[in-house]
Amino acid sequence: MTLAAKSDGRQREADRADKSGPRAADLLAWYDRHRRALPWRARPGEEIDPYRVWLSEIMLQQTTVKAVAPYYARFLARWPDVQALAAAPLEDVLKSWAGLGYYARARNLHACARAVAERHGGAFPRGEEELRALPGIGAYTAAAIAAIAFDAPATPVDGNIERVIARLHAIETPLPAAKPDIAVRARELTPRRRAGDFAQAMMDLGATICTPKTPACALCPLREGCTAHRRGDAETFPRRTPKREGALRRGAAFVAWRADGFLLVRTRAARGLLGGMTEVPTTEWVHHFDDGNALASAPHLPGAPSTGPVAWRRIAGSVRHVFTHFPLELSVYAAEVAPRTGAPAGMRWIAAADIAGEAFPSLMRKVLAHAPAHTLAHTLGAGADLGSNRDIQPGRKNDDDRTA
Ligand code: SF4
Repeated sequence: MTLAAKSDGRQREADRADKSGPRAADLLAWYDRHRRALPWRARPGEEIDPYRVWLSEIMLQQTTVKAVAPYYARFLARWPDVQALAAAPLEDVLKSWAGLGYYARARNLHACARAVAERHGGAFPRGEEELRALPGIGAYTAAAIAAIAFDAPATPVDGNIERVIARLHAIETPLPAAKPDIAVRARELTPRRRAGDFAQAMMDLGATICTPKTPACALCPLREGCTAHRRGDAETFPRRTPKREGALRRGAAFVAWRADGFLLVRTRAARGLLGGMTEVPTTEWVHHFDDGNALASAPHLPGAPSTGPVAWRRIAGSVRHVFTHFPLELSVYAAEVAPRTGAPAGMRWIAAADIAGEAFPSLMRKVLAHAPAHTLAHTLGAGADLGSNRDIQPGRKNDDDRTA
């Protein structure tokens, strides 16, 4: 055992011996009075539906409660149980997910529904191990489902809970190295009974009281046992190793409209970034992008008989977007072609009225919103929704609309 581990162990023993340490009972009493009413959360005495717990936990990964709520309601109305979702075409699920980000989640959601329907007769397994064997369910989500849906003695630890635990014990080790210690301390605090309520209470505390900036310690049920509060430097926890942001990548996007109101699109490869989503054609996204040579990658479309190939026009400004590992900047080129022009290989035309239902990620909605208004004005019907700049708000882990 290393010196640091011995020292951590001694610290925990000291905390346990210290009657002023945090107590789960205080948190549960607070939760009974102040629990948030969330669409997916069963009210006291109401039966808990594991399908709802699972659906909400997948949607909430990296995404805020506010952003998730309308998607959750739509999914539940359309696919009220796991069998219904398992029977849905993947394309429909991806379309309904469009705008929520991290699209690998939607593919895994669908695969998981199928696995539960086929392997478990439509009933979610109760154990963390079995849950983890399902697509898209990692350690956190398995623990959350086990605790919340089945009241099993499991301890999910997300970004909010990490912050609370790091402050309660003033853990000096920076994240991510502190994760194992935080997980142990969170488990030690979990009560034998009401593990599900305890998990949700920790989530609520992190979301409403022990917030990243200016935590409301005066309202906190755990303040008497909180080391960081005693020290007066709660806001500085958790410690973090400085993050290196990926280098900027750049590229160009090509917005081609047919004069009869159709937009040129293609579908991205099923695997990888924005897998399976719809996009307008783009160049590659690279660190050393030559905008002067961008049109070499434009789709080949015919122009008027007298002018030869279509004339692309560069739209002033650019579109910026932040993915998990890198920021992206796209210049946008627009063009209009004759009605009934054929689509180049691997691409297709979609009607303006179908844009809202297409599985465009937020990046592409920004690109479309950046296209010239006068071109769009006469091709788009009043019902066309470009979803202009519908950014996802900072999420559970303070992320932008980032896509796994
Ligand atoms: S006392 Fe303050 S820092 Fe400590 S857990 Fe409560 S809100 Fe967070």
